[in-house]
Amino acid sequence: MEKKLVVITGASSGFGMELAKEFANSGHPLLLLARRLDKMEALNLPNTLCKSVDVANKDAFEKAIREAEAIYGKTDLLINNAGVMLLGDLATQDPQEWKQMLDINVLGVMNGMQAVMGDMKDRQTGTIINVSSIAGVLPFHNHAAYCASKYAVRGVTQTARLELSPYNVRIISVEPGAVATELLSHTTSEDIKEGYKEWMKSSGANRIQAIDVARTIKFAYDLPQSVLLRELIISDTKQN
Ligand code: NDP
Repeated sequence: MEKKLVVITGASSGFGMELAKEFANSGHPLLLLARRLDKMEALNLPNTLCKSVDVANKDAFEKAIREAEAIYGKTDLLINNAGVMLLGDLATQDPQEWKQMLDINVLGVMNGMQAVMGDMKDRQTGTIINVSSIAGVLPFHNHAAYCASKYAVRGVTQTARLELSPYNVRIISVEPGAVATELLSHTTSEDIKEGYKEWMKSSGANRIQAIDVARTIKFAYDLPQSVLLRELIISDTKQN
């Protein structure tokens, strides 16, 4: 069967990079988006267009999707995976960090959704997968603004399902637990970063890998179009 276009945001590291490799292995043409073009191009995947795009820039995001569709055909799967995690104490955190997370983690996801939803509804097929977090399900210390962004991703996903399901379009939210990637590195408080690393080590919840998350996401996509895994919560067995 002909493999269709998969768009993956945040493909320059972590989950997105593993997703790109998994879908390329299955023969899908790809559009990979992130700000660091060199990291995506270094993957050297076949039938792949890589674009340096900030997902918060709606026009650039849409333009890249239209460009890829002109080459590979319509988007069958969009994985809104790009995100940042800037942990901080709500009482003292720089509000610019809140804004950055809401712009990228929430509006970036909605930008992607709007870029593909119309076509998917017209064609009565397609899948959107939004990467939220276990921090979109449960509260964690120093996660207030990050939790706000990830609860929002779940909210927008579940609400969009009401709009999309009559058109046979699937929308799924994914809530991964803690996985060692570059995600923590952007938090500006060294104390919080150290505390997080210590918690991962002492809890033993540090065995799950980005590839495990990527394979679980692909499993959900590979189910028949008539089967919707609405939400996926995936974590290390030892994470509570
Ligand atoms: P990484 O930091 O390894 O990857 C994040 C990716 O997002 C990078 O490719 C980064 O690329 C991209 N990105 C960040 N900002 C932008 C932007 N403005 N425009 C385009 N791309 C952007 O983290 P993970 O792989 O761990 O995270 C992937 C997703 O999973 C995120 O949404 C994260 O919140 C979520 N998640 C992660 C968990 C974890 O423990 N690792 C747990 C739960 C959820 P670049 O910098 O090149 O733009």
